[in-house]
Amino acid sequence: MTSPLLPFLCLSMILLPLQLISVVAQTKTKLAIGDSHTAGKSTTPWLVSSPSGVFAFGFLPLENSPDDFILCIWYANIQNKTVVWFANREKPAPKDSKVELTADDGLVLTAPSGDQLWKTGTSVRVSSGVFNDTGNFVLQDGGSNSVWESFKDYRDTLLPYQTLEKGQKLSSKLRGNDFNSGRFELFFQNDGNLVMHSINLPSGYSNENYNESGTIESNTASAGIRLVFDRSGDLYILRANNEKYILSDGSIGPSTTQFYLRATLDFDGVFTLYQHPKDSSGSGGWTSVRSYPENICKSHLAAASSGVCGYNSICKLGTDKRPTCQCPKWYSLVDPDDPYGSCKPDFVQECVEDEDSNIKDLYDYEVLIDTDWPLSDYVLQKPFNEDQCKQSCMEDCMCSVAIFRLGDSCWKKKLPLSNGRVDPTLNGAKAFMKVRKDNFSLIGPPIIVKKNSRNTLILVGSVLLGSSAFLNLILVVAICLSTSYVFQYKKRLRRLGKNDLETNLRCFTYEELEEATDGFDKVLGKGAFGIVYEGVVNMGSITRVAVKRLNTFLLEEVQKEFKNELNVIGSTHHKNLVRLLGFCETESERLLVYEYMSNGTLAKLLFDGEKPSWQLRLQIASGVARGLLYLHEECSTQIIHCDIKPQNILLDDYCTARISDFGLAKILNMNQSRTNTVIRGTKGYVALEWFKNMPITAKVDVYSYGVLLLELVSCRKSVEFEIEDEAKAILTEWAYDCYSEGALHALVEGDKEALDDMKTVENLVLIAIWCVQEDPGLRPTMRTVTQMLEGVVEVEVPPCPSQVTIQYSLN
Ligand code: ATP
Ligand code: MG
Repeated sequence: MTSPLLPFLCLSMILLPLQLISVVAQTKTKLAIGDSHTAGKSTTPWLVSSPSGVFAFGFLPLENSPDDFILCIWYANIQNKTVVWFANREKPAPKDSKVELTADDGLVLTAPSGDQLWKTGTSVRVSSGVFNDTGNFVLQDGGSNSVWESFKDYRDTLLPYQTLEKGQKLSSKLRGNDFNSGRFELFFQNDGNLVMHSINLPSGYSNENYNESGTIESNTASAGIRLVFDRSGDLYILRANNEKYILSDGSIGPSTTQFYLRATLDFDGVFTLYQHPKDSSGSGGWTSVRSYPENICKSHLAAASSGVCGYNSICKLGTDKRPTCQCPKWYSLVDPDDPYGSCKPDFVQECVEDEDSNIKDLYDYEVLIDTDWPLSDYVLQKPFNEDQCKQSCMEDCMCSVAIFRLGDSCWKKKLPLSNGRVDPTLNGAKAFMKVRKDNFSLIGPPIIVKKNSRNTLILVGSVLLGSSAFLNLILVVAICLSTSYVFQYKKRLRRLGKNDLETNLRCFTYEELEEATDGFDKVLGKGAFGIVYEGVVNMGSITRVAVKRLNTFLLEEVQKEFKNELNVIGSTHHKNLVRLLGFCETESERLLVYEYMSNGTLAKLLFDGEKPSWQLRLQIASGVARGLLYLHEECSTQIIHCDIKPQNILLDDYCTARISDFGLAKILNMNQSRTNTVIRGTKGYVALEWFKNMPITAKVDVYSYGVLLLELVSCRKSVEFEIEDEAKAILTEWAYDCYSEGALHALVEGDKEALDDMKTVENLVLIAIWCVQEDPGLRPTMRTVTQMLEGVVEVEVPPCPSQVTIQYSLN
């Protein structure tokens, strides 16, 4: 018996191929007048350029706003659609916008509201549209002559077979996924010179060229006619005498047989030739083959613009020859979503008349090596030595950074800083970047309060005398109100500041951190409380981080540890402390996310390999001292670190010392400081009071600092058991012996720089001996230590530090 379903089965077998044919037929290569396509209606492109479907033409949704569309041509048969030409760059097309081929105006793009968003516009009547295999869409008249081509309506990309003609330019996108006109142009001038410049938005004013081909008429060569991107992947300027000025040739680069190619003026101003393997198994997507200019951070210089990056930002070239922009330390992005934008200081820098405070006491400095903002100078001082340069900026309320170069030249610069870049050819130039010492972050608008009360009174008095009684009344009321407002605002500011800091930490999910660390793949190191992994997170910009995953088998201990870290580090803010960026807390996991310290630990620097320079060691000594001073005296609650040792001093990009690991720290109120429970800290660095059941005070850190200082001077560990001469095993004891025997040079044997600076060596050893005094009362405070280091306080002859010898064992 035949099934009653059979006729339906037969029918569907006939219909299925028909459906498939109709899907294929929707995408074609040719358009007739009246053909149209609607945004968001179907996911198939309007046109596909060839049977293999290399290019497609149609609507793509915008990444950031998926209900808006761009009419464009893209590389279609690779994994990530790559747009190579687009129509409506300034006016995104809302869903249901329609593009239609008309005889009078060519392609016309209309919004559902009826607004015309874009059109090709031609002077000749159009009869058809053809999409070529090269990715060129061509409008033709009745005689099949081209009347408009996408290849001649330039955007940001050239494709093989395309040329850039005289008087024409490529204009970059604003950002990677923002099609609005950007800040860079590649212009083939009428004189034959191919130039690159930035423009100031929104006026479009062109800045000076940062790259030129120089292909203009000369005795030896004739001028360029056009830029050619030929089928073999050669990119060259064709000269009038038919010679080629090669930008990149196929013999060393890619070729269209194996690769898809494009040459794009990227939004960051680099003209890059990219290749993508045609073979779909080929991995890696688009890779850059050639870049113009080679180093945009160095070559781009424009007097009346911010440079490649925003104002106050620093441009650094990546290995892919593309620039990245970074805010200096204690500066942050004005728009956190725009990593290429301007940076603002996180602190207030103002010129306030103030009799009480000495301006240089308010500020500190960061040293950046080989970094410059070449066009922001307001004064050059020469001859000046490094100290004079630094001092002169610190004492000058206008100065934001001073660059010391060439052995005697000091350029002082003011905000906003422009054209910032890292330039290794500056040969060790130092930038002293001024930062505010205290914890004065800028929350809300800054209030400029004239602190000199006498002046305020004079001002108020003279205004009162010079105006009518009614106005006086209003003025008095206004002054009262504004004084009360300022008072309330400052109170709120203080309150807000606290809350802000508390919530400033980002709360990550476990999955986020798993992804950020590539599945906890790269171990940076292990400590007593867990393993530290390297990772990358997006915090407005791509940020490298160190993720500490606390051991969970010690759950109760860990919980305590975790909370300590959060409370303590979360509310600290100092350039010599490692910053905690966020955390993650799940039922079974506790993780902490820190700023990544690219130069590792001080232990590695001091004890592995070559000795670091004397200057760097001095700089680290003073950095650690300042960080400790902050913890002890300058942050809202006194913090005793309890585990100062070279493993807990990390070094950032600029080798600034940053104290890490507050896991053992306790916030000690004065009354708590008498309770001494378990010994905290690491053998060789802990003070005697831990063993003697004495009160634990900030002086335990001073002790550890003393040991660290001796390690910095001598580049050896505090305790070395395997040493031949037993008298040298304990560094503190040996150092005192050397000092008392007048043989300090033994501590720095073979270290020429230190031997040439024995005065400083002696000074540091004396300070260290004071710090490691057995009696905590004899040890200086960290404030006195910093003053002694700076030479403000004289270092007296210390007594012998210890009457008791601690017995160290190997385990
Ligand atoms: P302890 O547990 O006694 O503090 P430790 O300091 O060696 O010992 P961790 O603080 O867990 O242990 O750090 C382990 C290692 O991870 C460090 O020695 C360092 O190499 C690396 N590390 C820690 N924090 C960072 C960071 N923020 N950036 C880069 N590396 C880091
Ligand atoms: Mg540590």
